[in-house]
Amino acid sequence: MAQKILLDMIKLRSVMAKDPATTIPEGYIPPSLNTDGMKTIRELAVFRFTCRKCEDAPCIGVCPADALEKDRDGIINRHTNLCISCKSCVTICPFGTMMTDFFKHHRNKDLFHNLDDKEELELFVRSCPPGVVSVVESEESPAENIYKLNDKVLVRDYLYTT
Ligand code: SF4
Ligand code: SF4
Repeated sequence: MAQKILLDMIKLRSVMAKDPATTIPEGYIPPSLNTDGMKTIRELAVFRFTCRKCEDAPCIGVCPADALEKDRDGIINRHTNLCISCKSCVTICPFGTMMTDFFKHHRNKDLFHNLDDKEELELFVRSCPPGVVSVVESEESPAENIYKLNDKVLVRDYLYTT
């Protein structure tokens, strides 16, 4: 039976309820199109720690896809659903902050395709709160509130029916 990931939305909500400061982890299956999709932990670390946080950030200005913006803490965030992987930001950054391998996650890449890659899959699981995402070899199980999102993803949640 093919491996799938199981995203436990019930557990995720309980983690977030206990700790309101919990941020939605990168690598989380986006609940809407306007999310960041999957990134490497290194990308997050580099923008948080290495980036000089330029006041008039040239990386933001040069991006043709408006994919970069600063969050409330002034940390650069790359929206992978907008990024076209042109790497203009890498070239213009005066401090060489970014590495080109960050940009393998971008809007032209199928998010789920990355889950075929063992390394990416481990990264995905690690980047979520413990127990929220697991790798399973099972099928949809409504009795356990587990439903099929697509061929590679199962979601555990309460089904709202009209
Ligand atoms: S690589 Fe992505 S984030 Fe960087 S400039 Fe190009 S579109 Fe913008
Ligand atoms: S140009 Fe480079 S150092 Fe400046 S904000 Fe952008 S990534 Fe950070």
